[in-house]
Amino acid sequence: MSDANGHANGTRRPTTGAAYTDGSGAFRPSVERIEHGSAIPGERVVRADVCVIGTGAGGAPVAKELAEGGMRVVMLEEGERFTADEFTARPREMTTLLYRDAGQVATLGNVPIVLPLGKAVGGSTLINSATCFRTPAPVLERWGAEFGLDGLAPAELDPYFRRVERELNVAQVPPDIAGHNAAVVKRGADALGWSGDYVYRNVRGCVGSGVCNFGCPTAAKQHVGVTYVPRAWEAGAVTYSGARAQRIVVENGRARGVEASTSGGGRLRIECDTVIVACGAIHTPLFLRRQGLGDESGELGRNLAIHPATGVRALFDEEIDMAKGVPQSYFIDEFASEGIMFEGAAGPPDYLAMSWPFSGERHRELMLQYRNTSQFGLMVSDSSRGLVRERGGRVEIRYDLGRDDVARFKCGIELLCELYFAAGAREVFPPVAGVLELSGGDLEPLRAAELHASQLTLMAFHPLGTARADGRHGKGVVDGDLALREVEGVYVSDGSVVPSSLGVNPQITIMALATRLAYHLLGQAPPVEEPEPESIAAPRIEKVPAGAL
Ligand SMILES: Cc1cc2nc3c(=O)[nH]c(=O)nc-3n(C[C@H](O)[C@H](O)[C@H](O)COP(=O)(O)OP(=O)(O)OC[C@H]3O[C@@H](n4cnc5c(N)ncnc54)[C@H](O)[C@@H]3O)c2cc1C
Ligand code: SF4
Repeated sequence: MSDANGHANGTRRPTTGAAYTDGSGAFRPSVERIEHGSAIPGERVVRADVCVIGTGAGGAPVAKELAEGGMRVVMLEEGERFTADEFTARPREMTTLLYRDAGQVATLGNVPIVLPLGKAVGGSTLINSATCFRTPAPVLERWGAEFGLDGLAPAELDPYFRRVERELNVAQVPPDIAGHNAAVVKRGADALGWSGDYVYRNVRGCVGSGVCNFGCPTAAKQHVGVTYVPRAWEAGAVTYSGARAQRIVVENGRARGVEASTSGGGRLRIECDTVIVACGAIHTPLFLRRQGLGDESGELGRNLAIHPATGVRALFDEEIDMAKGVPQSYFIDEFASEGIMFEGAAGPPDYLAMSWPFSGERHRELMLQYRNTSQFGLMVSDSSRGLVRERGGRVEIRYDLGRDDVARFKCGIELLCELYFAAGAREVFPPVAGVLELSGGDLEPLRAAELHASQLTLMAFHPLGTARADGRHGKGVVDGDLALREVEGVYVSDGSVVPSSLGVNPQITIMALATRLAYHLLGQAPPVEEPEPESIAAPRIEKVPAGAL
């Protein structure tokens, strides 16, 4: 018996309660096939069927699926492998260890935007907030209509989403470990009648220790470094860490291998006929451009969307203690169709100390009230687009926040301030130079301000689109099957192929596309036997926000 989509009926995957808090089902590989680049000082040649470059959200799933499908797979990862024993929960130490350039990657433009990236086995999933959303249906429909991307309709991607969600154990945060930060925000949203829900996350046995962005010390977060990568090892794949891919070897228009340098000063040559580039949306276009690949359409490195984000803080009389509970546990989707999504972003004290826009006595006063402070995030589905290039050997990310997105931020910040006052905040702190403090429920100073991009304090966590997929002839960097246009045997599988802003966090989209690519390369039909989840996040996104495509 199967349902309308061909799925096996009767099997349902639990997604609430113990499904979130029970850590007993975590996968432990019988063998760790990891070779450290630091131990490779000389030349080494390895024969494989496939070389996957990068082990993040795009690389690890495709490596695992191909290895399980019988292919000999090698994964190259520039970063090192870290395990929960090494995670101290101290932001300064962990950003230096786990983030590229110690977390200091930033864009240049009309407002600087910090754009942190992971550099380790697991890529940015190792340091992300574990929020899981499927690609909104209106976005997928528009990709089909406007970019000729066939086969990506919601029902067609459903088996791949189900498979990813099962592998990662995507489940909903129970209210009792969501933290009081989420509770006050929910109270404000309820008072205003705004729609929201607890976030779905990829965890097993999460205890709400509040430091997901600095390495989960209890190994509860099911990032791809503890799920897909070890599953790939189990199926025979090997990961080389500290191994930076330098070039794809191309002979007569087809890939024949990859050359990499190791952190031990050596050289690694992978001889293979299929190469999957999964270096992330900042480094994939740079890697391809360095060797003159992928720019037939003139789009390589362009079309960068980042979902720019910011946070509003508020002081309450009650104790909140943001350090307790899941940091990103609640979302408000009331304005998601307009491109404004609110998601929790609680932070530990040292994080707040670094980011308060005050100094001296005021900073001290506010830090003493850490336990009464709440913080919540706001993310914009951007219509602005940037570009990535290399100048003088340095990475340059250009991104100007356009007028429409500035207007979205103005609207979103006002709404979030309104929410905080509705929740009972005594003071609210918008991230806007010139209007840094509001009190007594008075939003007028903020409403009256004519906002310019340069007044905003922004970060972004979701680089997308710099090697975008397009099914139309001569358009995009890769085709609808994620194959690079000019060279046979080269594919791209990471955030760079996602052709537009999504309006939701992208890791599940990237992993579902990666899984689909693996099934395509194996010549296999979609995995329709995957169990249906008991429930999934269902954000209210009825249309693609203007300009986001
Ligand atoms: C702090 C933070 C919080 C986030 N929170 C969420 C969230 O809650 N939910 C969500 O959906 N998304 C979240 N994201 C975004 C999500 O993690 C990314 O979109 C996703 O991991 C991107 O996948 P990717 O494969 O494109 O790149 P990555 O996951 O970044 O992987 C790329 C890998 O390639 C490696 N690499 C690069 N160049 C080379 C080379 N030449 N040779 C070998 N290896 C190379 C890199 O070191 C890296 O490990 C967050 C991101 C950050 C930084
Ligand atoms: S809240 Fe703590 S236990 Fe839960 S995933 Fe984050 S770091 Fe791990």
